[in-house]
Amino acid sequence: MRIIMLGAPGAGKGTQAKKIAERYNIPHISTGDIFRANIKNETELGKKAKSYMDQGMLVPDELTVSLVMDRFREPDAKNGYVLDGFPRTIPQAESLDTALRESGGQIDYAINVDVPDASIITRMSGRRACVNCGATYHLQYAAPKKEGVCDHCGDTLILRDDDKPETVEKRLSVYHDQTQPLIDYYAQKGVLKEVDGTQDLEDVFRQITAILGE
Ligand code: ADP
Ligand code: AMP
Repeated sequence: MRIIMLGAPGAGKGTQAKKIAERYNIPHISTGDIFRANIKNETELGKKAKSYMDQGMLVPDELTVSLVMDRFREPDAKNGYVLDGFPRTIPQAESLDTALRESGGQIDYAINVDVPDASIITRMSGRRACVNCGATYHLQYAAPKKEGVCDHCGDTLILRDDDKPETVEKRLSVYHDQTQPLIDYYAQKGVLKEVDGTQDLEDVFRQITAILGE
């Protein structure tokens, strides 16, 4: 099964993608996580990506597409994946189409997690991310067992630099300009599914399993 998660930054794509990956036994491929791992490891790619990410801008398509194509070549991605944060522009979606055409695959579902902008600000200001394993929490809606400490690996939780309110506004405007058009793009392909992302995270997941099947 090949799935794309669509939705504004902070809509809950990552939260749901992790649950989908576990339930349906497919890898969760998050371009944001891959960029953050590269930043942490101080790679060349990380250095390039950071300057865009810190400003709430998109990393250029060329860099992003080649990173995803490399990830697709890993054996676990052979039979499917859930893409989180990719594609984010029409040219990225077209590159994905070309790659799928060449390999004989197809996108089965593009799931749009719909959340209005007003709730996005609350979601992102309360998000806390583990500096080590990338697990995400929310101060109000998905709190860790111990404040400031990751349940999974025990490392420190931080507010991402790009989740600060001034950057969130920029990211939302980039989303509306460059990423939202993908909703129509996948609707035209007949694979778009809408879920109401304002519900509790388990209820959002129930909507998704109703689409994907048990
Ligand atoms: P995205 O991957 O779309 O940027 P995340 O999955 O990281 O978004 O979610 C953003 C924040 O909102 C996180 O702190 C997460 O714990 C929280 N969150 C996710 N889904 C819900 C939900 N349905 N209700 C309340 N909070 C949520
Ligand atoms: P995310 O973790 O998905 O919210 O992504 C964090 C940041 O990484 C984004 O604001 C972008 O700067 C960058 N990024 C992630 N995915 C992409 C993508 N597909 N195209 C361009 N930039 C991306």
